[in-house]
Parts: sequence; C-alpha cells; structure tokens
Amino acid sequence: MMEKFDLVILGSGSTAFAAALRAAELGKTAVMTESRQLGGTCVNRGCLPSKNLIEAARIIWEAQHPRYPGLRPAKIEFDFKELIRQKGAVIHDYRDRKYNSIVEDADEIKVYNGHAGFVDEHTVAVDGRLLPGDHFLIATGSRPVVPMIEGLDRVPYLTSDLLTTDEQQELFELPKSLIIVGGGYIALELGQMFHRFGSQVTILERNHTILKNYEPEVSLALAEALREEGVNLVTEVQVQRVFQEDNETVVVGQGDGAEQRFRAERLLVATGRIPNTDNIGVERVRVELDGRGFVKVSDELQTNVPYVWAAGDVIGGHTGSQLATPVGAHDGGIAAVNALNGERRKVNHAVVPRTIFTDPQVAVVGLTDAEANAWGHRCWCNTIPVKLVPRAGAIHETRGIAKMVIDVDTNKVLGVSLVMRDAGEVIHEAAMGLRLGATIHDFIDLLHVYPTMAEALKIVAISRYKDPEKLSCCAE
Ligand SMILES: Cc1cc2nc3c(=O)[nH]c(=O)nc-3n(C[C@H](O)[C@H](O)[C@H](O)COP(=O)(O)OP(=O)(O)OC[C@H]3O[C@@H](n4cnc5c(N)ncnc54)[C@H](O)[C@@H]3O)c2cc1C
Repeated sequence: MMEKFDLVILGSGSTAFAAALRAAELGKTAVMTESRQLGGTCVNRGCLPSKNLIEAARIIWEAQHPRYPGLRPAKIEFDFKELIRQKGAVIHDYRDRKYNSIVEDADEIKVYNGHAGFVDEHTVAVDGRLLPGDHFLIATGSRPVVPMIEGLDRVPYLTSDLLTTDEQQELFELPKSLIIVGGGYIALELGQMFHRFGSQVTILERNHTILKNYEPEVSLALAEALREEGVNLVTEVQVQRVFQEDNETVVVGQGDGAEQRFRAERLLVATGRIPNTDNIGVERVRVELDGRGFVKVSDELQTNVPYVWAAGDVIGGHTGSQLATPVGAHDGGIAAVNALNGERRKVNHAVVPRTIFTDPQVAVVGLTDAEANAWGHRCWCNTIPVKLVPRAGAIHETRGIAKMVIDVDTNKVLGVSLVMRDAGEVIHEAAMGLRLGATIHDFIDLLHVYPTMAEALKIVAISRYKDPEKLSCCAE
C-alpha cells in the first residue's frame, strides 16, 4: 500500500530540514524531496562556500596590503584549483554531518531524490513515485534570475551557482577579468572576493547607488571602500546587450546619456533571485502566487489552500520575510507545528539581522530612517564615522559608519546599520536590543568591553546628547 505522510515537503534546504525535524519531534512522518543536492542552497552553493572563499581572499589581500606602518606587504602564493577543492571538502563535510547523518538518524524522515511536483490536490510525485500527504510544505527556495539581456543566450555566463560543488556550474579557473551585472549583496561579496584573488572586476549597477534598500550612508561607505581597493564599480548603467568577441564577453550599456562598453574574460550575472515555483504543479492545488512567482502566505505561513504551507526563500518578502537561511530555518519549524499540531503560531519578521560579508562588513537590523518615517514614527537618527570607535583607531581599521534610528516619543531604537569590521557579530547586540524593546539609554548604559567594535553602538547612541568627537576614550 502506498505510504501516506503527515507532511510532504517540496525541497530539502534549511527550511525543509527545520520542518522535517520538528515534524519528527512531534512524532509525525515527513518526507523531503530534492532535485539537486541535499541541504539546498546555503550549504551547497550559497552561504557556506561563499564565506569559505571570501575568507581565503581576505587572507591573501591583507598580506599584500598590511594596514600597519612597519608591516611589509607579502605576496601569498595560492593555487585557485586547490582552494576550490578544499571548498568542496568543507561542503561535503558539512553536508554529511549536518544534513545526511541527521536524516539517517531520524526514522520518521524520508528523503526522495528527483523533481517534485503536485500531481493532484493531495499528492506530490517525485520521478514517478507518488507521495500522498495530509499536509504539504513548499520549501523549494529560489534560483538566480536570468535577466532579459539581448545576446545573453549566446554567450557563456556564470551565476552564483559557480560556488557549487559536484555540479557542472562549478568554477575551477580564476578569471583574469570579470564583469558582474548587478549590485546586490551577492554581486558585492563575490566581486570583492574575485578582486582580492586577482581578477580585474567591474561591477555594473543600474541604480545610482548599490544596495538601494539600505541606508544611503551604508551604500556610500561600502561603495567608497570597494572603489578604494580597486574594484571598478560603475553605477547608473543599464546593460542592453552582450556579445562574444576574441574570447571575451563584451557588455554594452547605456549610462550618462552615452553607450558604454565593458569587456572581460568572464561574465557573472547576479541580478537577483526568482522562486522555484514555476514547475511544481501549484496550479493543480490552486495555491496563489504573487506576480513574481513567490508563494503568498498568511503570517502563520499558510497558503490560500488550508493544508498547503510555504516558508523560506519561496515566500520572498511576504510577511516581511527575507531571503536568508536563518529565516527559513526558523520558519520551517513554525510551519510544521502549525500544520501538524494545530497551533496558530505567527512569524515575527520585525527583527531580522542581516549581514553582507564584504570587507568591511555591512550589518543591519530593524528599520531604516526612510522606513521608520514611512511607518509614521517621529524619528531621530544619526550616523557616526567608525574612526570614532577606539578599537578602530587602535587596529588601523577605520573604514565605515554606524547609524541608529530611534523613535523620539518612546526613545526606542528602531533600526541600526553598521559598515565596519566585525559588523556581522556586533549587530546581534542591536538585534537583541530591538527584540526586547531597548531604548537609546539601554545602549548608552550597557557597559561595553573596551576596546571593541561593539562600542560603535554606544557611541552612536551617545551622539544624541553629546558630540561624539569630544568623548574621552571610553568615558560617557
Ligand atoms: C551566493 C549566496 C550566498 C548566500 N549567503 C548567505 C549568507 O551568508 N547568509 C544567509 O543567511 N543566507 C545566504 N544566502 C541565502 C540562503 O542560501 C537562502 O536564503 C537559503 O538557502 C534558503 O533556504 P530554503 O530552504 O528556503 O531554500 P533552498 O536552500 O534553496 O532549498 C530549496 C531546495 O529545493 C530544491 N528544489 C527546488 N525545486 C524542487 C523540486 N521541484 N523538486 C525537488 N526539489 C526542489 C532545490 O534544489 C533546493 O535544494 C546566500 C545565497 C547565495 C546564492
């Protein structure tokens, strides 16, 4: 007899895993399905490999560009293919320990490989195998968007899938030169990384600034840092067509009222992500998608079909969600308890800290100044240069800014944006503050370890009352 599951999950990424594990904890049966590699984007071709290689590039770069007078530049010889090989080893290790062995140890969880799609209202099929279920979770994630650019179908191009392992999209040769179309976080992380490995990198952004949904001070500070180290960051250029000439890709854009041409050995397209919902048979269950294909959900992660749930990248910005691993890994569990335990837990996406792993890092949480105003808050906000943070001066790492947005009626901190070394670590203090409803005085009164980059939060808070340029060391 055909096995029926309590929860049938389309996908096997972090979101799917969270749901399957929660289902098992509840004593229910769950099945995950996977058309590529177990574990999804993050472990196989996203967070893990990118952060692995970005750190290697940082080591190489810092050796060649010491910040301290008295340290002489040293050239680290490196073997790109060997770096790629070790990246593969790290992925295999994580996949084995954090994904394969977890499902092997859980009797209630099954995984079937192959493309999954609804064949009728209560059944998903994977390569001909039918998986009937009581509840379904769509956790198929997202993939790189392929923009409509004339000629793109006739030239070889890379996407962020270049970070994958054991798949044909993997990149083994370091390009001498690289054009990146797009100015979002993936473009910037990979752009700086390739630049630091030695590629000549040009990043083409159509807007007048990179990171358009961030605080303007953030975009400015990061653009300055990237340009200072030699990344050719070109803004306000609309890419119109591409073609191949003499073993190079030529990108033709329109900017400043004139045609601009860029050429490089390789082209990387990093213009965003689209949800994997176009070929999973959602029409057979009549699950509603938005205009871009993301699944519409309530704040309980329920779709318009009561027994079909969705979470992770595939819901895009619905419920204020973000395309980031911890969000899906948190929400997958909520979808599972709501589906299987009859709970009505709501997601809370008000406090989602995010980091861009450039150097300096960008880390943000909460509302930007513009968002806070749009929500009707009466705001105070201020930005300080990171050079005011004692540790920054002490270690010759003064690039960046810290910005805080508060509600003047309640003194509650609404948002923090950081561009600085270790911003991705420091942002957690701000995130916890926002979660607990901290006021600006909580950030001022909290004793901070001296000298740390986290003091940026205290100093930007103090700047509401005093000139931060005139503070003595760690005195308030
Ligand atoms: C280059 C890069 C760097 C990133 N860096 C970070 C970072 O540093 N920090 C961070 O938090 N996030 C990062 N992300 C984002 C993060 O990887 C995603 O937000 C996260 O992986 C989404 O998890 P998910 O489970 O929703 O989807 P996914 O992990 O994409 O999992 C969905 C799975 O479903 C499979 N699938 C799709 N369709 C089907 C089908 N029809 N049948 C069967 N299987 C199917 C897919 O193959 C995939 O394995 C990065 C992403 C990229 C691309």
